[in-house]
Amino acid sequence: MINYYLVFFSLFILSCKVSPKEDTKNDVLYNVIKTDLEWQSELSEISYFVLRESGTEYAFTGKYDDHYENGIYKCMGCGIDLYNSKYKYNSKSGWPSFDRGINDNLEFSIEYKLGFPRTEIKCANCGGHLGHLFNDGPKKTTGQRHCINSAALNFKSINE
Ligand SMILES: [Zn+2]
Repeated sequence: MINYYLVFFSLFILSCKVSPKEDTKNDVLYNVIKTDLEWQSELSEISYFVLRESGTEYAFTGKYDDHYENGIYKCMGCGIDLYNSKYKYNSKSGWPSFDRGINDNLEFSIEYKLGFPRTEIKCANCGGHLGHLFNDGPKKTTGQRHCINSAALNFKSINE
């Protein structure tokens, strides 16, 4: 009987130990899983740095910062649709900005890299880092600014 209570008590303690939600993201199994070597051989240096090392390209250097054609911005890592050009706007931040994304294909989590909480945006299909979500977007629409690295995106014109 003592053993029974001990086991029960242990299970109770364990069940109370809930990890913060953002930590569980490490356990997410993505549809597209590749080794670091595979990603490295398939991606350019800057795309690997952004997507797989959560890097940030320098402001005003990305090829889609000043880019306003009709089409879909796909994930450079796995090719899934991420952003529609009709929601792209000029935030003057130096990075491609959208007031909304194709949310089913995006993953949002909190990270503390700079010492304060920021909402990181990842591709939900391959786990590639895309950028961050801020609340200083256009007030007339969603108020959101999806601040995305060009190197994480691959634009496909709607006419193609
Ligand atoms: Zn992806």
